[in-house]
Amino acid sequence: MRISFDIDDTLVCDASVPTEREISRWRRWRYPERLRRGTESLMAALVRRRCKIWIYTSSDRSTHYLKSWFGSCGIQVEGVINRTVHERKVGLRGPSKYPPAFGIDLHVDDSPGVAMEGAEHRFEVLTVAPDDPDWTARILAEVDARIRANPYWHARFAPRPAPAIERFLPSLTQALRWMAATP
Ligand SMILES: [Mg+2]
Repeated sequence: MRISFDIDDTLVCDASVPTEREISRWRRWRYPERLRRGTESLMAALVRRRCKIWIYTSSDRSTHYLKSWFGSCGIQVEGVINRTVHERKVGLRGPSKYPPAFGIDLHVDDSPGVAMEGAEHRFEVLTVAPDDPDWTARILAEVDARIRANPYWHARFAPRPAPAIERFLPSLTQALRWMAATP
C-alpha cells in the first residue's frame, strides 16, 4: 500500500506540539525542522506492514531535502510530490492535491479542505488534527482496517508475525519461573 503524508501541521507542527527526541546539533543545522513526536515509530510500523511512504506537500521543499532529512531519521521515503511536481502532473485547475495521479492509496492530511477534495474527486484522505495525541494509533487502525478489507492487500500487507524468539519468549519465561520455584 502506498501512503502519503502532508508535511505542514501533519508531520511538522507548531511549537505547542511535542516533537521527536533531541537531535544532534549538526543535524539540526542541516535540517532545522522537527518531526512531530511519534513519526518515527509510526513509519517503522507502516514499513512492517510493507507500506511505501510518500510525502505530498503543497510547499516547495525539494525532493532531495525531504528524502535526505527523513533518511537521517531512519525513514525511507519512496516518493515526493511537492508543489512543482503536483502542478506539472495535475495542473493548476484541479484539486490542490490528487494522490491517485501518483498511485497513492491513502493520503494523510490535517486539512478538511483536502478531505473535501477527496470526497469530490474520489480519493482516500485520513484527516488528523495537529492536537490529536492519538494520531499515530488512528493512522495504524485505518491502515489495518483497509488491509483487512482488501483480500489482495491482506495476503500481501498484513503485519508480519513477530520473530520466532518473541513468540517463544513467554513460554520460556514461564518455564524458567517454574524451574526457579521448584526446590
Ligand atoms: Mg497541512
